[in-house]
Amino acid sequence: MRITEIYKSIQGESSFTGLPCVFVRTTGCDLRCSWCDSEFTFSGGTAMTVEEVVRRVEQFRCDLVELTGGEPLLQPDINELATRLCDAGNTVLIETGGHRDISKLDARVVRIMDLKCPASGECERNLWGNLAHLRPTDEVKFVIANRADYEWARDTIKRHCLEERVKILISTAYGLVHTKEVVEWMLEDGLRARFQLQSHKYIWRPNARGV
Ligand code: SF4
Repeated sequence: MRITEIYKSIQGESSFTGLPCVFVRTTGCDLRCSWCDSEFTFSGGTAMTVEEVVRRVEQFRCDLVELTGGEPLLQPDINELATRLCDAGNTVLIETGGHRDISKLDARVVRIMDLKCPASGECERNLWGNLAHLRPTDEVKFVIANRADYEWARDTIKRHCLEERVKILISTAYGLVHTKEVVEWMLEDGLRARFQLQSHKYIWRPNARGV
């Protein structure tokens, strides 16, 4: 596997927000979102075996583990790693861009899946077939950069009945839209979704790594 970093912090974006969490950040992404804050993951990294990653995670003595990137589903061994971490008694989350097949992951993994909004520039890459594989424990995330993104997210949620099927997360692209405005739009529409700030960016600096 190609790994950019493994570190312990608090979970910053999901229904697990605020909990201590070990992050395994893989290297490489096949998207280029306009507001990406993780370009440092696009190249470099260190080659590690699944066994080495598991042993490194164990050293942190924390039973919440998130696989993230970059795009973790690009790693051929990611399913094996997820299963090993589940077998060890961890709660395992994976954050994926939503353009790669999520169906092969261990059923115990909580999948936090983006649906890319238009302003990301990657909306055409959304793999709509993934929606059929979602479970109630999974979370679908929309990152909003403007009003048009919000309307796209709202209409997508309604069209696919996502409010009844999964947890929905609404985030803002950091610095591109007023958080207050997005919250007001959600309240006006009665959207059954969880608004979230990227809390790690408020605790540490916006582009800090390893936090
Ligand atoms: S999917 Fe994530 S890592 Fe990849 S370009 Fe988009 S924001 Fe960046």
